[in-house]
Amino acid sequence: MEIGFIGLGKMGFPMARRLIEAKHQLTVFDTRQEAISKLVALGAQPASSPKDIADRCETVLASLPSLQASLDVATGAGGVIEGRRVKRFVDLSTVGSQMAAKIHGLLAKNNIVQIDSPVSGGVGGAEKGTLAVMVSGPRADCELTKPALDVIGKVFFIGEKPGSAQTMKLANNFLSATAMVATSEAVVMGVKAGLDPAVMIDVINAGSGLNTASRDKFPRSVLPRSFDFGFATGLMVKDVRLALEEMKSLGLSMEVAEAVGRLWEVIIRDEGAESDFTAAIKPIEKAAGVVVGGAK
Ligand code: NAD
Repeated sequence: MEIGFIGLGKMGFPMARRLIEAKHQLTVFDTRQEAISKLVALGAQPASSPKDIADRCETVLASLPSLQASLDVATGAGGVIEGRRVKRFVDLSTVGSQMAAKIHGLLAKNNIVQIDSPVSGGVGGAEKGTLAVMVSGPRADCELTKPALDVIGKVFFIGEKPGSAQTMKLANNFLSATAMVATSEAVVMGVKAGLDPAVMIDVINAGSGLNTASRDKFPRSVLPRSFDFGFATGLMVKDVRLALEEMKSLGLSMEVAEAVGRLWEVIIRDEGAESDFTAAIKPIEKAAGVVVGGAK
């Protein structure tokens, strides 16, 4: 398949590389020239703008870091909306259901179909092609994109309503955000009381406390204190804020989400948007006066 790919960052790069390896013809664009060059070296064609890609490909995928970036790339000047050949814009980014619906409406005016396709599973999942790929949009167009999406992970059709895959993704990431801070508080409690954090993680993973933070993030990035899991705090906070907005717009009670949201605002203030999201434990450690893991 001929595919355009915009946004070649932590997630976009390995997804684009897998598509090339699966023999799809890729045309790529990023605001960072070095990201384009790395994929051109692997066999992709370079493009000079989102419009340039949309002049050349019917299906354009994007993996972008903010709501504004998705809106600009899709509908701004020099954006996908101006392309002569494009038929569908598949947004792999997490932008929330309201922004997805807005982009859907703007692109529809130019007969371009918007497909939500947020993903879960992290950089490791993007490298291995094992992401959970949540898709919403017109079923026929979703089917046409499936040969590409199958290469990056397991595709789940969520519904035809614009934005519904985004709602699914926010539910997932709210749980991931909660697991990270709840596990941090649990382990800090143990360390403060004199327990060994590595033993704690082994016990939790053999017991009913098991979650994605205890299973993946603590062993790989927290206990060794490498804080390099590959997902920025700024992106996690974007998703937590979007989940809170989504719950609010539905008139829901959200006791846990508000507490989790407050904690992530402290984390982004103390650690910065560019820090890895596994650094979430640091303000919790600081308040307790302990350090979890590291060299003995
Ligand atoms: P990233 O910041 O590593 O990559 C974003 C890329 O987009 C960068 O290469 C940047 O140069 C490029 N870019 C920014 N603005 C652009 C523009 N206007 N035009 C073209 N390129 C532009 O981010 P990431 O971690 O790869 O995340 C991308 C999306 O995937 C986000 O929505 C994020 O929430 C979501 N996501 C990330 C992960 C993860 O583990 N990193 C997991 C699931 C979902």
